[in-house]
Amino acid sequence: MFLSQRAKAIKPSPTLAIDAKAKALKAQGIDVIGFGVGEPDFDTPQNIKDAGIKAIEMGFTKYCPVGGTDDLKDAIIEKLKQDNGLSYERGEIIVSCGAKHSLYNIAMTVLEKGNEVIIPAPYWVSYPDIVALADAKPVIVNTSEKNGFKMTAEEFRKAITPETKAVIINSPSNPTGSLYSRKELEGIAEAAVEKKILIISDDIYEKLVYEGFKFISIASISKEVKDLTIVVNGVSKAYAMTGWRIGYAAGAKEIVTAMTNIQSQSTSNPTSIAMKASTEALVGPQDAVASMVKEFDRRRVYMVDRLNKIKGITCMRPNGAFYAFPNVTGLLGKNFNGKLIETSSDMATLLLDEVKVALVPGSAFGAEGFLRLSYATSMEKIKEGIDRVEKAVGMLK
Ligand code: PMP
Ligand code: GLU
Repeated sequence: MFLSQRAKAIKPSPTLAIDAKAKALKAQGIDVIGFGVGEPDFDTPQNIKDAGIKAIEMGFTKYCPVGGTDDLKDAIIEKLKQDNGLSYERGEIIVSCGAKHSLYNIAMTVLEKGNEVIIPAPYWVSYPDIVALADAKPVIVNTSEKNGFKMTAEEFRKAITPETKAVIINSPSNPTGSLYSRKELEGIAEAAVEKKILIISDDIYEKLVYEGFKFISIASISKEVKDLTIVVNGVSKAYAMTGWRIGYAAGAKEIVTAMTNIQSQSTSNPTSIAMKASTEALVGPQDAVASMVKEFDRRRVYMVDRLNKIKGITCMRPNGAFYAFPNVTGLLGKNFNGKLIETSSDMATLLLDEVKVALVPGSAFGAEGFLRLSYATSMEKIKEGIDRVEKAVGMLK
């Protein structure tokens, strides 16, 4: 009876909900294969853990500057310069409690009722809800599998209205793993510059790119584009640090200052210890990243090849992130022991109930007819999980 309209309208994150369900089944002793949540199965590298331990031992356990410590901001500035060719000052960087928090702060800072935000679908589950939490309207642009699930400049232009305030670009993408080329980004950036639309560039999967493809941050296209872009990134995916909760944003000082003010009235600084560990992640040796990427690549090739061998399933080979996004429309409309499987959600429920494989239905990402499987889990589990999917699909009539 006390709930606000805002609270009533919000859906819990489906990816986190599926993970919670899979973990609850595991706790009951049920052998579940988890392809649900997008979280590296690797442990945080030792040098990073040591930096966190040292921070505790040295008493680095007090309040810090709201927008992040200077040493972490400097490490982020250096990273953006080295990896992306982008130059920022400390006042243009804010560290938050995960990239999700960075995105939330951006939404609270720039959006209000009446604003529209263009989001290409398939999209990461939290984008529309974060936009809605800021009372703005998500405008979903459906992309096509034929086009690698990437929004074209033309599709973007068609969705723009006088109310459009921002667009979210996520390359490599969660859930499709698609990577935008420089040329594709240039087309989108040109329209954004022309119409003065803020670009929110979620670069969190930038390190997870395969087959020699090159990640380009849209902000690096030109000074004009950089001025209109707020870059979001973090340590969760590249450094296997999901639980440490450190993400960051880089952009115009005016926006970053306002985000910092909002953060000062909500969470205050991100955890001091996690900031020390994240500084080490960015400035320390990077070989752990390379070896994780190599292993993700091996699993990617195996999982996608196996999925393509299952009758009724086709799967594009993703260039980045750690998700396979197979098309399962060939299976919808069939029966499993007399039960009709009509949607991707029915399919995901069936796989969890019958063969104990947790994965996320495409509908959670605004793409009916698909499933998302995370391959951030061991090769052994991938083999077993795909065997089970194959078995369940073989029983469909
Ligand atoms: N953006 C995308 C596309 C993601 O998949 C995730 C994963 N949780 C995030 C942002 C947020 O990551 P985190 O809050 O762990 O930094
Ligand atoms: N981004 C990951 C996923 O999509 C983690 C879960 C979440 O934050 O929603 O599975």
